[in-house]
Amino acid sequence: MSQLVLVINAGSSSLKYQLVDAATGDVTAKGSVERIGEARAQAQHESFGVRHQTRKKSGSIGSHRDALGWVTEVFREAGPDLESVGLLAVGHRVVHGGDRFSEPVVVTDEVLAVVAALEPLAPLHNPANLEGIRVARERFPGVPQVAVFDTAFHHGMPAHAYTYAVPASWREKHQVRRYGFHGTSYAYVSRRAAALLGHALEETSLVVLHLGNGASAAAICGGRSVDTSMGLTPLEGLVMGTRSGDIDPGLFSFMVRTGMSAGEVDAALNRESGLKGLAGTNDFREVTELVAAGDADGRLAFDVAVYRLRKYVGAYAAALGRLDAVVFTAGVGEHSAELRAAVCDGLGILGVELDAAANAAAGGGERRISTDASRVAVLVVPTNEELEIARQAAAVVGAEG
Ligand code: ADP
Repeated sequence: MSQLVLVINAGSSSLKYQLVDAATGDVTAKGSVERIGEARAQAQHESFGVRHQTRKKSGSIGSHRDALGWVTEVFREAGPDLESVGLLAVGHRVVHGGDRFSEPVVVTDEVLAVVAALEPLAPLHNPANLEGIRVARERFPGVPQVAVFDTAFHHGMPAHAYTYAVPASWREKHQVRRYGFHGTSYAYVSRRAAALLGHALEETSLVVLHLGNGASAAAICGGRSVDTSMGLTPLEGLVMGTRSGDIDPGLFSFMVRTGMSAGEVDAALNRESGLKGLAGTNDFREVTELVAAGDADGRLAFDVAVYRLRKYVGAYAAALGRLDAVVFTAGVGEHSAELRAAVCDGLGILGVELDAAANAAAGGGERRISTDASRVAVLVVPTNEELEIARQAAAVVGAEG
């Protein structure tokens, strides 16, 4: 039976997809449609069949339904035809599973209703994720749709880690607690890190730093999340591309008293803060270039981000009580040797000793960048959320079938 899973990540104005063989990890095709709903939408597709083929399209794509229509069409042209390839499942990334979903699930009407009810917790993400599921259901009616939740990996976090010290009515009526995100990445990366260390996952204690546009840290013991830096929403924690991460909650009402509305403060903390607020750009590569050019704002942005990271690693080492490795992943974690060096520079107290040459060496892939003498290993593990979603979707369908 085919193990081909179409992985869909539907954002508010984009739809990204990969056709993945869940058994081998091979990517048969991938692409994205961006700026859905705008006059100048853009789409691109690559397929890696007998011949490598690419297709590009621009013009008006009005909705996610149109976007998926275009995707099916381009698969038909460039191969393989999605309708005859024997899809095992369509796997959907869903950002917020609330406290309800601890595992991926086959989508039913009831699941859709629960995800819709979680909308207040993820107003930017869940509606778009839902729309992706609805249109894929219509387009591939005979194929199981599986929802894989970003929050699920953290579902088992202990109460002392997920509870905010706020009134009971907030916690009970409004499900106010820490949820955590980037779960599919943590599931994938922690397994690979254990393999790289040659340990059983069940006996491995890790701090994983997922540093992309959105960024978070997780303390992972025996393959389970024991703490993570994002909370009720993906705003808490590390300094991100455009998000502030941790601030004094009093800052919010302080800014409201200056005359801003709550919505304006929220938007500024989510979209105008972080690296962008400090250095004028959310792109970490550009921040690194500013630092190299001696720019003071770039330097401050870099230092604030690094200092926050070091504090989290220290805190999570204490939370875990034992640390086997610090693991860097996602765009910044995988590619910025400068950032990795700066974070590890202050971690000697934990027994971290970076191998400067290994850290700076060109080339991607999974690797160890600490010295042989380092008590705690430092690893770079490229994440692969699509493969993780494909595997989880295939496993659920396999278990139900
Ligand atoms: P997303 O969260 O959108 O999936 P990614 O994981 O792709 O993001 O990470 C994007 C970030 O990675 C950007 O800030 C980008 O500048 C940074 N990045 C990518 N390559 C490099 C590099 N060579 N050096 C420094 N930063 C990089």
